[in-house]
Amino acid sequence: MTDLILFWHRRDLRIADNVGLTAARERTSKVVGIFCLDPGILDQDDVAPARVMYLIGSLAALEKRYSEVGSQLLIVKGSPDQAIPGLAKSLAATAVFFNQDVEPYAKERDRSVIEALQESGIEVQPFWDQLLHPPKQVMTNAGEPYSVFTPFWRNWKAQEKAAPLTTLADVEGLTPSEQEQAQAAGTIALPTAKDLGFEWEHELILEPGEQAAQERLEAFCDRAIQEYGEQRNFPAVPGTSQLSAALKFGTIGIRTVWSAAEDVYNRSRSDETRQNVQTWQQELCWREFYQHAMFFFPELATGPYRDPFKDFPWENDQELFQAWCEGKTGYPIVDAAMRQLNTIGWMHNRCRMIVASFLTKDLIIDWRWGEKYFMQKLMDGDLSANNGGWQWSASSGMDPKPLRIFNPASQSQKFDPEGEYIREWLPELKSLDTELLVTGKIPDDERDRCDYPRPIVDHKQRQRQFKEIYQQQRAAR
Ligand code: FAD
Repeated sequence: MTDLILFWHRRDLRIADNVGLTAARERTSKVVGIFCLDPGILDQDDVAPARVMYLIGSLAALEKRYSEVGSQLLIVKGSPDQAIPGLAKSLAATAVFFNQDVEPYAKERDRSVIEALQESGIEVQPFWDQLLHPPKQVMTNAGEPYSVFTPFWRNWKAQEKAAPLTTLADVEGLTPSEQEQAQAAGTIALPTAKDLGFEWEHELILEPGEQAAQERLEAFCDRAIQEYGEQRNFPAVPGTSQLSAALKFGTIGIRTVWSAAEDVYNRSRSDETRQNVQTWQQELCWREFYQHAMFFFPELATGPYRDPFKDFPWENDQELFQAWCEGKTGYPIVDAAMRQLNTIGWMHNRCRMIVASFLTKDLIIDWRWGEKYFMQKLMDGDLSANNGGWQWSASSGMDPKPLRIFNPASQSQKFDPEGEYIREWLPELKSLDTELLVTGKIPDDERDRCDYPRPIVDHKQRQRQFKEIYQQQRAAR
């Protein structure tokens, strides 16, 4: 009988360019995929409906891919340390392979699954797939993890990158009687997001699945990447890849992404284009930097990195927070961004920085409130990137620059000079002069006429107040 390996998918929902899956196929021709719907994740109160839609859609696409290559994707629901070994035992699998993750919850979960499999005498093999360079591969000369981005980037960039792996092919799946056995052991049909209690009506900005991610990458490399450096800061312009959900769930392999960018770089004769490609590659490096940080400093997941923020006297006003969540602060660029998030489950990076600065520095609300709200809404919500982004914006993270306060008016004047983005997401302000929109200096009677709120705080005054609190905190430490 041919050896059976179960390949446990988690955030690698594809069959192309997948390290652990390729290794499984190299070992045996009989490889079956498995995905576990884990209540430990799905029952948390920070799960975004848009993210569940993307996940379920990508699992449906993955099921199809497996059947195209001759095998199956099995779905189970339950605690992974019971569901995975349970199925492996009943199918007499020789091994379970999977790709590792950096998050504290995932590391703990994997430890218990490995233990349970080993107790049952089933081989288990973890691999690294989601990063070009896994943790411990990019360290300082002293062998320490980096806490500052620029030297990390230099080291990371200089290291050789692996080429994309071949797509899984010619696989043997379960026989019909084995499929019945799997069902008896608890496999289920893939539920819908609604079955799991999540409602999402809006079209997703990136279609789920491997093929859509690949097509998006190709389209981005054909055009936008070549102007990325100039265009990426303008939220009204589709100047970024919008591949974040694909990278979060691994519907595309990071080696494939990197090599597509390298191709553009190598084909280009213009220094400017090359610079733009490199700027995008640097964003991929930020993604890895934050994942390495989460791996080495898991305490980041729950608290600040820098001392002055360890017991910061956040005001945490519930009403101000509510206004921020709903996009009703009276600051047009902030409100437009929050409405974009609430409507499509995604927000442009420039705007993520603006609203995060506003929540922490203007409203003096704990960055963890904003971090959680983002997780409840973002289709690409990812612990490492989200926590890194929030700590960067709050100035509580790994960053030598101490205080970063964004002025909403100058941000809109610079990055939405025609007010296009504001008009798109705040249609009630559509008819106002651009000057009023981008400076935010909208007279009260106009605000009332448009049914748009007055500013909930005064930016200048709050920024002064924040700085004072910050200086006191620093002096106290
Ligand atoms: P592109 O500009 O095309 O970048 C390509 C890829 O690089 C992205 O898809 C993403 O995987 C990665 N990337 C880009 N910028 C960053 C960054 N600053 N940090 C880490 N990775 C980056 N990104 C998430 O993927 N999930 C999050 O939950 C998340 N939360 C954020 C919260 C805050 C407060 C901030 C300031 C940023 C956050 N980001 C997060 C980073 C960034 O905003 C998004 O990755 C980006 O907007 C996604 O759009 P894109 O795919 O078009 O990016």
